Amino acid sequence: MISTVNGRVSHWFSELPTPRPPLPGDRDADVCIVGAGYTGLWSAYYLKTLDPSLRITVLEQRFAGFGASGRNGGWLSGLAPGHRRLLAARYGRQPVLAWQRALLGAVDEVVDVAARERIDAGIVKSGTLEVARNPAQVARLRSEVDDEREWGIDGIEILSKDNASERVRVNGLQLAYFSPHCARIQPAALARGLAEVVERLGVTVHEQTTVTDIRPGQAITDHGVVRAPIVLRATEGFTTKLPGLKRRWLPMNSAMIATEPLGDAVWGSIGWEGRETMGDTAHGFFYAQRTVDDRIAIGGRAMPYRFGSGIDRDGAVSDSTVTYLTSVLNTLLPQTRGAAITHGWCGVLGVPRDWSAGLSLDRSTGLGWAGGYVGHGVTATNLAGQTLADLVLGRDTELVRMPWVDHVSKTWEPEPLRFLGVRGMYLAYKLADRHEDNGRATTSPIAVIADKIARRP
Ligand SMILES: Cc1cc2nc3c(=O)[nH]c(=O)nc-3n(C[C@H](O)[C@H](O)[C@H](O)COP(=O)(O)OP(=O)(O)OC[C@H]3O[C@@H](n4cnc5c(N)ncnc54)[C@H](O)[C@@H]3O)c2cc1C
Repeated sequence: MISTVNGRVSHWFSELPTPRPPLPGDRDADVCIVGAGYTGLWSAYYLKTLDPSLRITVLEQRFAGFGASGRNGGWLSGLAPGHRRLLAARYGRQPVLAWQRALLGAVDEVVDVAARERIDAGIVKSGTLEVARNPAQVARLRSEVDDEREWGIDGIEILSKDNASERVRVNGLQLAYFSPHCARIQPAALARGLAEVVERLGVTVHEQTTVTDIRPGQAITDHGVVRAPIVLRATEGFTTKLPGLKRRWLPMNSAMIATEPLGDAVWGSIGWEGRETMGDTAHGFFYAQRTVDDRIAIGGRAMPYRFGSGIDRDGAVSDSTVTYLTSVLNTLLPQTRGAAITHGWCGVLGVPRDWSAGLSLDRSTGLGWAGGYVGHGVTATNLAGQTLADLVLGRDTELVRMPWVDHVSKTWEPEPLRFLGVRGMYLAYKLADRHEDNGRATTSPIAVIADKIARRP
C-alpha cells in the first residue's frame, strides 16, 4: 500500500533542496528583497535585467519556493487578484481594463521568460475549464462568463455537457466554459528555476535567513543586517509575522492532494488530453491540474484559517483535509476511486480585507512591498515584479499607473472576530453548496450574505 506523505512543504518538491548559505553577517546592497517566492524573485529578475549594475540581495527564511510559490495549484492564469468592480469605482473603469489586459499579457510573459531562460516548469498553455454541476452553479457560471467578457477577456467559449465531456468526463457536469488564458505549470520548478536564473544574473540569494524587522534603509535578520536604500517586502501570507503587520493580510490556508500517476485505462476513461487546468463555480470551489507525470493534483479550502493568523508547519495537513479532498476528487472523477493519494499539503496566501492586491514604493523611506493576491498570484506576481522594478528605477511606464499601485486596503478585525468571521464565512459556503446540490436554481442567499459581509468579489 502507498502511504500519503503529509506536508514536507509540497508534492512539487520531489526532494527538499539543500538550502543556500545564510547571510554571513552585515552587508550592504543597493536593493534588498525579503522573500524568495515569485514576487521577490521576479522583482530581482526585472531589476537586474534592466540595470545589471545593481547590487541586489534576496533574503529567504527557508529556501526559494518554500511559501505559496512552491505549493500552489499551478494555474498560471489571467485571473485578477482583486475586486475589479471596487477598484473601478475608486480608480475608473479604463485603468482596471488596462490592468486586466496586462495580467493576460503576463501569462505569456512568464511562458516566454521560462522558455528564454531555460526554466523547465512543465508549462503547457492550453487554457482552463470551469465546470458547473448543479443549476445554481450553472447560473453563476453564465454570469461569470458575462463578467469576464465585460472586463475585456476574449476567447471564452461556453461548452455544453457533450462538448465539455469531449475534453474531460466530469461526473454530473451540466455546463462548462473554456478560457484560453491559462497555462498549467509545475510551481516549485518555476520558483527554483527563477532563483537559479537571478543568481546567474548576479543577484545574491541568502536562504535560511529570517528577517525579523524591516526599517528604512535596513533589513534586520537573525544573521546580521542588510543595509540598502531600497528594501522590498515580498512575504505574502507570512507578512502577519512581521512587527506591526499582524492584521495587514489574512493568511488564508489552501490545501491540496496528489494522486499516484494514473494508468492509461483510467486516463482513457477521464480524457483530459489537453491538460487544461480545471475548477468549478461551487462556493467551496476546487482547482485541479493533470500533472507533468500524469497524476491529478487537486486543491480546495478545507480548513481556511487558523486562530490568531497561525501558519502551518511545512505544509502539514490533517487527515480530515486529505479525506475531504479525496472525496471531492472521487465525486468529480469516480474513475479515480482506486487511486492512491500519495501526498497532502497546504500553504498560506495573503488576503487583504477588501480582497484586492496592491503594491507600492515609498520614495521617502525606500520601503516597498507587493502582495495580497488572494490566491491568484502565480501570474500577478510577475506583473508585480515588473512594476516594482519600474518604481525602483523611476521608470515612467504604463505599469506604474495601474490601479493596484499604492492601493492599500483596511486591516482585518482583531481576534476573535477575525477567526469567527472567516470560519463563519466558510461554514456559510458549505451550507450554501449543500442547498444548491439539493436543487436550488439560484445562488443560495446564505452565500450572498456571506459574500456581502466578507466584501468578497
Ligand atoms: C495551496 C495553494 C494553491 C494555490 N494555487 C494557485 C494557483 O493555482 N494559481 C494562482 O495564481 N495562485 C495560486 N495560489 C497563490 C499563489 O501561490 C501565491 O499568490 C504566490 O505564490 C505568491 O507568491 P509570493 O512570492 O508573493 O509569496 P510566497 O511564495 O509565499 O513567498 C514568500 C516568501 O517569503 C519568505 N518569507 C516570509 N517571511 C519571511 C521573513 N520574515 N524573512 C525571510 N523570508 C521570509 C517565505 O518563506 C516565502 O518563501 C495558491 C496558493 C496556495 C497556498
